[in-house]
Amino acid sequence: MRAAMAEAEVGDAWYGDDPTANRLQELAAERLGTQAALYVPTGTMANQIALALHVRTNGHLVACSSASHVATTELMTAAALSGIGFRTVETGRRGWIDAAQASDLLEPDSFYDVEVVDLLSVENTAGGTGGRVMPLAELRAVRAVAAGAGVPVHLDGARLFNAAAAAGVDAAEFAHEADTVMFCVSKGLGAPIGSLLCGPADLMPEARRLSILFGGAWRQAGITAAAGILALERGTERLHEDHERARRLAEGVAERLPGSIDLDQVETNMVFVDTEAVGLDMLETIDRLGALGVGVTHTGNGVRMVTHVDVSDDDVQIALDAWASLAEDPTSGHVGVAKEG
Ligand SMILES: *Cc1c(COP(=O)(O)O)cnc(C)c1O
Repeated sequence: MRAAMAEAEVGDAWYGDDPTANRLQELAAERLGTQAALYVPTGTMANQIALALHVRTNGHLVACSSASHVATTELMTAAALSGIGFRTVETGRRGWIDAAQASDLLEPDSFYDVEVVDLLSVENTAGGTGGRVMPLAELRAVRAVAAGAGVPVHLDGARLFNAAAAAGVDAAEFAHEADTVMFCVSKGLGAPIGSLLCGPADLMPEARRLSILFGGAWRQAGITAAAGILALERGTERLHEDHERARRLAEGVAERLPGSIDLDQVETNMVFVDTEAVGLDMLETIDRLGALGVGVTHTGNGVRMVTHVDVSDDDVQIALDAWASLAEDPTSGHVGVAKEG
């Protein structure tokens, strides 16, 4: 990837004439079966462009799961950049909305006549709740509800290819059920930078204008796009390995700390460990694992582990050994090493 970046042919993507960035855009559109795609630095920016494209005016709403990235991490981004608010519904550990919930969310505000929902946003996989896959049939049902209400659908597919690999469905089939789709070539696909916003050609001039407005028009974007092309061409084929390793991790931790993991939740490359359920302090767990070379992040009542291209079978074993030492000595009093160090 680094070699491809060094050799990339470049232009100026601000002017639309970077050949490598253009090739990545064509490739992304082809893979998702959309007319066009726009290469931007982050998934957040791709989502924010999509939201601003669909929401007609300041003060209108986007409907989605309360756990979704757009309504959590990006809540203030959407408010600050575009005056967008949210109407959300709890989706529990599943993380994705079903057709009945979509129908409730899109119910017109006939009483006060003030809340207007301009967009339904869905997420696949649902990252905030453990990387669960929204099945294609469910997405179709939700899309039908939205179409009935005259509301477009945006698919936040930061990990769409993980969903596709786990479901055994072509990513384009998911994309077909949305008006716009974003996916990251970073994260699981392994590129250092970049996301694609895919959709109809007639939306792209405005998407491009918004990318400039938001500071996302690049100069020699081809340098990172070269990595994005490899990520898309090769990174998608090996995602099942990450899913297998996540399963091995989950089963291993569940064996060492019974009750800490709901194995049914583990469908893709994420493992949520409920540390509280097994009497482990969450922050102390993060420190202790960190000191043993295992990086994890926190979630509501525990920690999250993610497998990706740089996590090998040996790394899984290192993580399992680290968890074993915690299980043997749950209250070591070993606090703060990672932070202070
Ligand atoms: C990571 C992520 C994003 C944002 O992507 P960045 O490149 O980190 O800005 C959006 N949605 C979901 C579901 C994500 O996991």
